Amino acid sequence: MELSDIKKVGPKTLTYLNNLGIYSIEDLVNYYPYRYEIIKRSNMDEVSENDKVIIDGVVESKPTIFYYGKRKNVMNFRINIGSRLIGVSIYNRGFLKNKIVIGNYVTIIGKMVKGKIIATDIRFSKLSDKTEVDVIYHESNNINSKELREFIKEAIKDYKAKDYLPENIIKKYDFLDKYSALLEIHNPSSSIKLKKAINLLKYEELFLFMFKIAKLKLSRTKVPGLKRSVDKKNIDSFINSFSFELTKDQIKAVDDIYNDMTKGTRMNRLVQGDVGSGKTVIAFVALYINYLSGYQGALMAPTEVLANQHFINIKKFIKNVNIEILTGSTKKSDKKKIVEKLKNKEIDIIIGTHALFSDDVDYNNLGLVITDEQHRFGVNQRASLKNKGITPDILYLSATPIPRTYALTIYGDMDISNIKTVPIGKLEIITLLKKNSEIKDVLSMMCKEILNKHQIYVIAPLTEENEEIDLEDVKTLKNKMEKAFSKVANIELLYGKMKQKEKDKVMNNFKEGKTDILVSTTVIEVGVDVKNATMIVIFDSDRFGLSTLHQLRGRVGRNDIQSYCILICDKEKERLKIMTETSDGFKISEEDFKLRGSGDLFGNRQSGDMNFKLADIKRDFKLLLSAKEDSLEYINNKEYNDKIETIIEKANNLD
Ligand code: ADP
Ligand code: MG
Repeated sequence: MELSDIKKVGPKTLTYLNNLGIYSIEDLVNYYPYRYEIIKRSNMDEVSENDKVIIDGVVESKPTIFYYGKRKNVMNFRINIGSRLIGVSIYNRGFLKNKIVIGNYVTIIGKMVKGKIIATDIRFSKLSDKTEVDVIYHESNNINSKELREFIKEAIKDYKAKDYLPENIIKKYDFLDKYSALLEIHNPSSSIKLKKAINLLKYEELFLFMFKIAKLKLSRTKVPGLKRSVDKKNIDSFINSFSFELTKDQIKAVDDIYNDMTKGTRMNRLVQGDVGSGKTVIAFVALYINYLSGYQGALMAPTEVLANQHFINIKKFIKNVNIEILTGSTKKSDKKKIVEKLKNKEIDIIIGTHALFSDDVDYNNLGLVITDEQHRFGVNQRASLKNKGITPDILYLSATPIPRTYALTIYGDMDISNIKTVPIGKLEIITLLKKNSEIKDVLSMMCKEILNKHQIYVIAPLTEENEEIDLEDVKTLKNKMEKAFSKVANIELLYGKMKQKEKDKVMNNFKEGKTDILVSTTVIEVGVDVKNATMIVIFDSDRFGLSTLHQLRGRVGRNDIQSYCILICDKEKERLKIMTETSDGFKISEEDFKLRGSGDLFGNRQSGDMNFKLADIKRDFKLLLSAKEDSLEYINNKEYNDKIETIIEKANNLD
């Protein structure tokens, strides 16, 4: 069966379904409701304006229809609800006219507006008196919950559900079978059974995910690592050439990396630590180890701004080595040269963005790939590296530290180095919570910084996508700043939708100190390093997760000058208070985890790794742990491997 075989699904509806991410019957059947609503009749004596109403009645008057606009209509009629008559209006359902017959029984679902019901739905078969639930799906403008419900109902009839769980596990937890669970989630028969259904579906997601991770880990130990022979002494003298001493955690991380890179198996390591904890330097050391052992190395950053910053920076640390940069805005002719040089090994270290792994780039002997700021890339991408048959070592840098227990599970296929200590000599950033009504204080603090020739970030929480409208728009925010600082400060604007060239220009102006205030969206979140920036003011800060705020705060305090982070918010002061109490990213992430679940922590950049439909890493953490144990046991126990092929296939597709 295909989507187009469903009644009422024509070419148009098909594209509407596609827009919801539904391309197959399987997708449709796995399009779960996000909410259930108990249908309970309203007590009309207690209903007030704009309340939702569900009421039974008998049609009392013939319906009248008004047509207006392009194919729009409104139909009006009256029903008798026993105690009185009440008017009903429904829009664009003129086709129901023939079913609204005087004396017939109807159930109206809608909203009370000026003494009338504006109906969203009319039911003609009598709803039973016991409680019923309405199943609500995420809708789009073109396709509503009710239609989805009908499509799913039809699709599921002959659907052959694939059960991805091994028999022993189904038995162990007394799970429903998959098909029953799907039926139940789309059309619940009781809350107990619904819970069981959801439990199975969640567990299945988690099991497949953990299975994939376990398998990745296994396959990694089977891939031979690169044979490097690098004398540790050379690394030590490299490190000794720095103008500072490494912190304890940095030394440990370097040791971890050195061991990984020189022992038999392939490195797959995550270095996590706060912004400014010195991860980039660690990456440089890794690149240096790799260089000394004769391989090419690549460092991939999420943005051009960052790539440029790394490029300038690395040349200060690693001298007399061929280092180049390749990004999306590298000129075609330059790119051609770089590609040629990479192939011929005339480049030892390349810094860049995703462009580093575009199709036309071939490496001669790439031995190490480092991705900055959680730019994780999947197995498939790794495989696509055109690289003379070498499987490079992998190092990830992440400035969103996550608590160890979670890290061990979610990054089960990786080894982890934590950098908890921030280099000595750095002053703690002073963090203040301010209300909108205290804006004058904030402005005068800003003024003081500007007069001291320091620079300021002002953050508006407007993202590129459909943020709500009542947020401070970046542009109005800039206007406000201009009003306040018209004579004393240069102000510039930075936001995601700007052209890359403009962004770079703005960023460079700020770096060079030409701009005093940079009004920005969260595009500056990752890694930007401007030492003279000493204050960050975040508007509507309650809109952000703690981890994001922590990241933003890390933009300042990058020097020995006292820095400030000002969180402006009228709501949720309690939650934000932790920001004033600690600067330990691990603690903050733990708190964030407790409060919000994984959402913010694993940000957009990683969501691809964990696209669970039902499971929530935080809420379902226990279930995740069971899934982890079970998947390991399953992999290690041949007896159980009844469905291994199907499971492997499904798990591979998760990528
Ligand atoms: P991260 O990548 O973790 O945000 P960086 O590696 O960019 O941090 O380090 C931030 C700044 O601190 C850089 O200017 C870097 O040169 C400096 N730095 C790194 N490690 C140390 C250290 N052990 N002592 C002093 N300064 C350091
Ligand atoms: Mg960094």
